[in-house]
Amino acid sequence: MGFYLTPEQEALRKEIRKLAEEKVAPRAADIDRSGEYPWDIQKLLASQGLLGYAIPEEYGGSGADLLSCCVVGEELARICATTSLIFVVQKLAVYPIVIAGSEETKHEYLPAAARGEILAAFCLTERESGSDAGATRTMARRAGDVYVINGQKCFITNGGLAKLHSVFCMTDPDKGYRGISAFCVGEVEGLSVGKIEDKMGLRAAQVAELVFDDCRVPVENRLGEEGSGFVTAMKTLDNSRPLVGAQALGIAQGALECAVDWARERQAFGRPIGTLQGVGFMLADMATEVEAARLLVYKAASMADRKDPDLSIFSAMSKMKASDTAMQVTTDAVQVMGGYGYMRDHPVERMMRDAKVTQIYEGTNQVQRLVISRAMLK
Ligand SMILES: Cc1cc2nc3c(=O)[nH]c(=O)nc-3n(C[C@H](O)[C@H](O)[C@H](O)COP(=O)(O)OP(=O)(O)OC[C@H]3O[C@@H](n4cnc5c(N)ncnc54)[C@H](O)[C@@H]3O)c2cc1C
Repeated sequence: MGFYLTPEQEALRKEIRKLAEEKVAPRAADIDRSGEYPWDIQKLLASQGLLGYAIPEEYGGSGADLLSCCVVGEELARICATTSLIFVVQKLAVYPIVIAGSEETKHEYLPAAARGEILAAFCLTERESGSDAGATRTMARRAGDVYVINGQKCFITNGGLAKLHSVFCMTDPDKGYRGISAFCVGEVEGLSVGKIEDKMGLRAAQVAELVFDDCRVPVENRLGEEGSGFVTAMKTLDNSRPLVGAQALGIAQGALECAVDWARERQAFGRPIGTLQGVGFMLADMATEVEAARLLVYKAASMADRKDPDLSIFSAMSKMKASDTAMQVTTDAVQVMGGYGYMRDHPVERMMRDAKVTQIYEGTNQVQRLVISRAMLK
C-alpha cells in the first residue's frame, strides 16, 4: 500500500490550493451569507476544466482518477464547502451515465457537462425513501418507445439548476429494489421545481424538490437494463463516497488550521492558549484524527481506481470516518476559539454548519455502518 501521492497529484494539490486561496476564499463568507448560488464560482470551476474532471476523455472530460478528484475536492472544501459540492455533485450525477449509458446518450449529454455548460443532478431521494432507497415511488411506465415518468424527488442538489439528471424510478413495483431503473433526463416537458430548501449549511448550494409530471423520456435514455437501477445507484455511491469523505476532510483541515493559528496568537494567563495543555492536547487529537481520515479516504479512492472488489466497505468507512472527524474537529475548532469561534466573523462557525451534512448525504453514517457490518458478516 502506498502512502504518498504521485508528484503529479502533489502538483495538482498546490495548483488547486492556490486557486482556492486566491479566487474562492474572498467569496466564501459572502456565498454563505447570501445563500445565492455562486454562478461566478461555477464558471471558475468550468473554466479550469474541473466540472468535467472525472468525465472520460472521449466525452470531452479529463478522465481523472478518483484519488485526484479527492485531492481537488479536499482542497476546495478547505476553503469553501459549497464550492467543493459543485465539483462533487457534477461527478456524482454524471457517473450513472458514464457507467450505464448508451454511447449515443453519453455523446449527447456528457460533452456539455464536461465543459461545465450544464450542471447535473443525481435524483434518488424521495420524501418516503431516503435511507431506504428501495422504497422508490417515482414511476416510469413504458409506452412504446418512451417511458412516462411521474413522481417527486426531494433534497436534490442542483435541483432546478441542472439540465441533466440521473433519475432512479420504479419500473416494476412487484420486484422491490430489483424493479428500479435509471434514466438520463435532460430538459423535458413536465419537469418542474418544487420546494427550494432553506438549509443549516452549504447555504448557497441549491437543494430542491423536483416534480415529474408525465415526463416523456426516450427508451434509449434508460441507463442499463430495466431493473438494474439500484445496482447502478450503489456503484455510483461506492465511487462517490470517498469524494464526500474528501470534502469532509477538507472542511476538517480548514478548521484545524484556523484553530492552530488562533492557539498560537491568543493569549490567556500570560501565554498563548496553545501552550495550555488542555488546548494543546485538543489540537493534537484534532490533527491525528484528520490524518487518520486522510489515509482512509485516499485508500478508498485508490481502491476505486484499481477496481478493488472490497471497495464498498472501504468507501463507506472513508465517508463515515472523515465526516465524523469533520464534525468533531470543526466543533473543537469553535471551542478552541472560544466566543470568537461562535461569531460569523470567523470561518469555523460556517465550517461547523457545513460539516454536519457530510454525516447525512450519500447515505447517513448509520447506513455506512450497515454497509460495513453486513459486508463483515457475509
Ligand atoms: C443538503 C443535502 C443535499 C442532498 N443532496 C441529494 C442529492 O443530490 N440527491 C439525492 O438523491 N439525495 C440528496 N440528499 C438526500 C440524502 O441522501 C438523504 O437525506 C439521506 O440519504 C437520508 O435520508 P432521509 O433524509 O430520508 O433520512 P431517513 O432515511 O428518514 O433517516 C432518518 C434517520 O434514521 C436513520 N436510519 C434510517 N434507516 C436506518 C437503519 N436501517 N439503521 C439505522 N439507522 C437508520 C438515519 O441514519 C437517520 O439518522 C441530500 C440531503 C441533504 C441534507
